[in-house]
Formats: sequence, C-alpha cells, structure tokens
Amino acid sequence: KLLGGFKRTSDRLLGNLAGLGTGPLDRATLDEIEEALIASDLGPQTAARIRHRLSTGVFERDMEDLGIRLVVAEEIEKVLDTVAKPLEITGFPRPHVILVIGVNGSGKTTTIAKLAHLLKEQDYGVMLAAGDTFRAAAIGQLATWAERAGVPIISGKEGGDAAGIVYEAVKQATATGIDVLIVDTAGRLQNKRELMDELSKIRRVLGRLNVDSPHDVLLVLDATTGQNALSQIEVFKKDAGVTGLVMTKLDGTARGGVLVAAAEQYGLPIHAIGVGEGMGDLRPFDANEVARIIA
Ligand code: GDP
Repeated sequence: KLLGGFKRTSDRLLGNLAGLGTGPLDRATLDEIEEALIASDLGPQTAARIRHRLSTGVFERDMEDLGIRLVVAEEIEKVLDTVAKPLEITGFPRPHVILVIGVNGSGKTTTIAKLAHLLKEQDYGVMLAAGDTFRAAAIGQLATWAERAGVPIISGKEGGDAAGIVYEAVKQATATGIDVLIVDTAGRLQNKRELMDELSKIRRVLGRLNVDSPHDVLLVLDATTGQNALSQIEVFKKDAGVTGLVMTKLDGTARGGVLVAAAEQYGLPIHAIGVGEGMGDLRPFDANEVARIIA
C-alpha cells in the first residue's frame, strides 16, 4: 500500500525528468531538472541542492543515467531523515496528552482512530476526548471510531466547552490509569482567533490539573492538497504551537513530494503517514523507504 501510494508520486517525478530527453547535462538541462523537481512538489531548496550536486558530480551527461536518480533519492532521504520521528509517549505522570488539530476533511478523525489503534497495539491504554464540539457530526463520528478501536471516549454536547471535556477526560484518565489521552479539537482555520482561544483554554485547564502538557500538538494535513498543506503548516505552526505532523492520503496521490517540501521548509517532526481509510492504515514514517520509492 505504501509503495502503491508513492508510486504515483514517483511516476510523476520520473516522468517529469524523463520528459527532458537525453541531451547533455548542460546548464539548460540542469535548469530543467531543477524545475521538474519543483514541479514534483519537492520544494525549492531540495531542488537547488540536487541541481548543485548534479552540476559538480561526474555523470553520463545523459538523462538515462541512473546516477541522477541516485542523487535525487539520496537528497530526498537526507531531508526526510531529519524529520522522520516516531511519536514518543513520554508524558509523566500519565496521561500523555496529544492535541490533534487540522481543517475539516484533512483526515483528522480517521487519524485519531488510527493512532488510538496503533498505540493500543503497543499496549498503551488509550482514551479519546471529543473536543471538536463545533459539529455534532464530528462527535458522533469520533464515537463510532472509538467503539471500533475499542477505546473509551469522553464527549459532551454540540457547542459545548472543549476545555471542560478535556478537564473531565484527564480526571477520568488519571483515575483509570490511561496512558495516552488523544484530544480532538475544532480545526477552524477560517476562524484562527477562536481556535487559538480554545487551545489556550485547554492549556490552562491542563495546567490546573498539573499536567505538564500537551505533550504533543499534532497537525493533520491532507497530502493531496499539495502547496495548500504547506500554507496550513505556516498558519498553525506558530499560532497553535504545533509540535509534529501527520500527513494523510498518501495512498494514490501524485503529490507525495510535498512531504519533502514540508520537511525542508518547516523541519517539524513527521510522526506518521496515512496510507488508506482503514484502522491499520497509519504507518510510521521511514525516510529511507520513502526516498527509495520516490526516486
Ligand atoms: P476530518 O473531517 O478531518 O475529521 O476528516 P475524516 O477523518 O472524516 O476524513 C475525511 C475523508 O478522508 C474520509 O472519507 C476518510 O476516509 C478519508 N481519509 C482519511 N485519511 C485517509 C488516508 O490516509 N487515505 C485515504 N485514501 N483516505 C483517507
């Protein structure tokens, strides 16, 4: 499934490069390679670095040269390697608190369920808190997923106070020996102020409960939106104190290169990637594996 996902990204990148023909590796060709890399969502810095290496190395001066692909793969891996970090459950005393943010449709609900499943498989006691009280549907959907994943969920009414739900959830988590509390939050990019107020209220509540946290603030991004995903990092990084990313829908998109651009521009840890709609479709992010599939 992972291979299938990045296959289209890879086809697009190699297609872009192959489209340049088999001419000598002169300045004009190097320009075109750089453009092809940028058009494949890899980001300008990585593209420039690859260009530089190609301009100084010894190649067959032919686009068929496998050495070019090797350079591309190596540079992609270098960038991804700096951000590929599995989520670590370190919060002590328990629970370790993870806030999850992301715009509607990004795959936030599904990612929370997948994450709960993954952590449960690692023998952690997991609880969900339905802090996205903005939409009744969101509360219902999360409850359905919680049941499927076999984890408890604390929720309130639509339009209710998210911080109140977090308060209740932390108390219950502490009482029942839960290791990880995953909190869904309303991802209203269109109303930044409200989201920020809500997050600071949650932080205050956690502080009152003596939880030195949230331990993680995960931003869920839809890879198929390409550059748009990058602008969401820009907005949320500072305002919401994002500590790490999960990129979803990498199965079947040709825009997987956006992972590289995100890594290069923001350097935020990428904890996992979504490669399908099912419970088991959240994967730890392996830089070497991804780089080798892409190029
Ligand atoms: P939310 O509005 O951000 O909570 O998004 P949802 O979790 O409801 O997901 C929106 C849609 O994207 C649903 O149809 C999900 O099944 C789908 N989705 C989420 N993650 C992935 C993924 O990694 N791959 C694919 N193919 N679909 C996904």
